[in-house]
Amino acid sequence: MTMEIYLDANATSPVLPAAIDAATAAMRDCFGNPSSSHAAGLRARALREAARAAARRVIGAPTGRVMFNSGATEGIQTAVLSALCAVRERRARGEACGELLLYGATEHKAVPESLAHWNRVLGTGLELRALPVDADGRHRLEILRELAPRAALVCTMAANNETGVVSDLAAIEGVLEDCASPALWMVDCVQALGKLPLDLGRSRIDYAPFSGHKLYAPKGIGMLYVREGAPYTPLMCGGGQEEGQRSGTENMAGIAAFGAVLEALERGDTFRTHAELLVCRERLVQALRAAFPDIAFNAPLAHALPTTLNFSVPGASSSDLLEIFDAAGVRVSAGSACSAAKAAPSHVLDAMGLPPGRSAAAVRLSFGPLVDDATIDAACAGIARCGRALALSVLAPSPLLGRPHGLVQLDAEGKTGWLLFDADARACIAIDPPAAQAARAAGMLRAGGYRLLAALHTGLDDAGAASLCRECGGAPGWPFAADAIAFGGERLGRVEHGAGNVYLFGAAQEPRFVFTGGCELWPELAQGGVRCGADSERPVAVSAAVPLGDEDMELDSEAALRLLEQYPDALVIDVRDLREHGAGEARLHGRPAHNLPLARLAEHSGHFLHGERRPLLFVCRSGARSLRAARVLRQLGRGQTWCLAGGLALMD
Ligand code: PLP
Repeated sequence: MTMEIYLDANATSPVLPAAIDAATAAMRDCFGNPSSSHAAGLRARALREAARAAARRVIGAPTGRVMFNSGATEGIQTAVLSALCAVRERRARGEACGELLLYGATEHKAVPESLAHWNRVLGTGLELRALPVDADGRHRLEILRELAPRAALVCTMAANNETGVVSDLAAIEGVLEDCASPALWMVDCVQALGKLPLDLGRSRIDYAPFSGHKLYAPKGIGMLYVREGAPYTPLMCGGGQEEGQRSGTENMAGIAAFGAVLEALERGDTFRTHAELLVCRERLVQALRAAFPDIAFNAPLAHALPTTLNFSVPGASSSDLLEIFDAAGVRVSAGSACSAAKAAPSHVLDAMGLPPGRSAAAVRLSFGPLVDDATIDAACAGIARCGRALALSVLAPSPLLGRPHGLVQLDAEGKTGWLLFDADARACIAIDPPAAQAARAAGMLRAGGYRLLAALHTGLDDAGAASLCRECGGAPGWPFAADAIAFGGERLGRVEHGAGNVYLFGAAQEPRFVFTGGCELWPELAQGGVRCGADSERPVAVSAAVPLGDEDMELDSEAALRLLEQYPDALVIDVRDLREHGAGEARLHGRPAHNLPLARLAEHSGHFLHGERRPLLFVCRSGARSLRAARVLRQLGRGQTWCLAGGLALMD
C-alpha cells in the first residue's frame, strides 16, 4: 500500500483533530437545541456564540451579520438573492441601481450559476457580464472602471481555487469608490480563510461567503458575513433561527468544529505562517521542476496563495498526470474538484488566455496551512517517482510485454482504435484511431521512434485517421498496391466489406485479429481470430466463443481475499497504464500484481484463452478498467476471470 500524500486541500481538507474533538463534544455533551430556553439549550447557544465571536475576530467583522450556514454555495445564493431583491425594491422606488451583474471571469461556478439562476427566478432581467482578467489572472481594473458605474452587483473572489491567484481587493475597492458605483460587492473568501489576512469590517465588501471544509472543519458548515446596512433577504425561512436570518436547526457539531478551527487561527499556534508556507511551496516547485524539466506554471507565484500550484507538462494530459500522481500516492486534481470528472479545459485558465491544450492539461496541487515538513518530504519523493514514471514511454519494453510488437488499443470518447506495431521495422499502422487520441498517438510514435506506415479506417469516417496523418504525415487510407502486405513477420490484409473495409492480421488462413470497425462481423472471416471493433464498450469479441456473462465477476475486497485463498495460483493483473504501474506498483492483499495495461489486453487475449489456465483477478485504480478487462475476457469465453470492484483506491 502506497502512503497517501494529500495535496488537494483546495477541494477539501482533512479535519483538524481539535475540530473533531469539538464536534464530538458538541454531539455528546452539548447536544441541546440552541433555541431551547432550558440549561441544555443555553449551553448549546453559548457554544454557538463563542464560535461566532471567534469568527468575527478572525475575519475582522465586529459589526454586521455573521451567520452560520451549510457552506459557501449557500452563502453565495443568499448574497445574490439579497442583492437582487434590493435591486427590485430600489427599482420600484425609482432609484438607479445599475443594470449589470458583473463577476470575475475566474469566479467559482457557484457565482455565475447563482447569478443566472436568481436573475431568472426573480425576473430581474439584469445583464450578466464577466469581468475579464489579465494573463496573471487578476481583474482588469480599467474594464471594471468602465463597467462599475452600471453594475448592480460586483463579484470578485479573494483568491482563486484553481490557480491560487490573489485578487487586488484594495484596488477593486478603490475603483468602486472612485466611480461612485451603485453596486453591491460580494467577495468569495472561501480560499482566503487562514491563508490571507482578512479585515472585512474595514472594507466596503457587502457579502463574504466561507466554507469550513476548505480549512480543516467538516463539510456542511460555512458562514456568511453581511456588512451592517447591506440589504439582506433570508434564503430559508421557518423557525427563525439565527435571529430569523437563516432558519433551520443549527448544525451544532459543524459549528463547534468550525469554532475550534477559528479559535486555532486566532491563537496563531496551530497553523504555519505565510513565510513557512512559502518555503514549503518552493520545495514543491523545485521538486516539480526536477521531475518535469519542461513544466510550465500556469499562474505567477508572486501573486498566488502560498499553498496552491497550478501547472502543465507539455505532452502529458491532465488525466495522464492525475493517474500517475494517484499511483504514486500523491492526491492532486485537474483544475477544480467539481469539474474533475470532465477532462474539459479550465474556464479559469482559458480566461487568463492560456492556450487550450495547456488549460486542458492543467494540474492543481494544493495544501493547507497545517502542512508539516514530513508531508512535503514525502510529496517531493512522490513527485520524483512521478517524473521517472512519466519518462517511461507507453511503448517502452516491459518485462511482460517486451518491445511493442503487436497491438495497442486506443480509447477516447466511446470510440476505439488500434495501433499495430512492428518493432524490428520501427513501423506502425493505425486502424480507426480516435481523433481525440491523435496527438497522444503521434507523441507515442515519436517517443518510440516509430514511423506511421498507414492510417486506415474501416468505415466511411476517416476523421481520426486524417487527424493522425496531420500529426505524422501521409494520407488516410490503404496506401499499398497489393491487398495484403507483410508486417511484423505476419500478414495484414484488406477485404472490402459493405461500404468499408475489414482488415485481417495474422497468418494468411488464420487471422489472429480481425478489425471490423462498427460493422457486424462476417463470421467466416473471423475463423477464431479476435474481432477488434471500434466501440469502446465492446472493443473485442470473437464469433467462435461462447460468451460468459458478468455474474459474480466483481469482487469486493473480502471476496477477493477469499478467492486468493481458494486459488493460491491465481494471477493478479494490474491493467493500469505502464507509467501508473511505474509510479506505484499494485498489490492486492500482499500479492504483487503483474502489469498488463488494458490497451494491450486484446493483443494478449489469445494467451489467456488458449495458454494461461490460472484464474485471473484484474485490478486497477477505480475498478473501471479492470471491469472492462474481465468483461472482455468473459465475452471471449474465458472462465475463472474476476475483477476488483471499486479498484485499488478502496484498498488504501
Ligand atoms: N467558492 C470557491 C472559491 C470554492 O473554492 C468553492 C469550493 O470549491 C466554493 C465557492 C463552493 O464551496 P462549497 O462547495 O463548500 O459550497
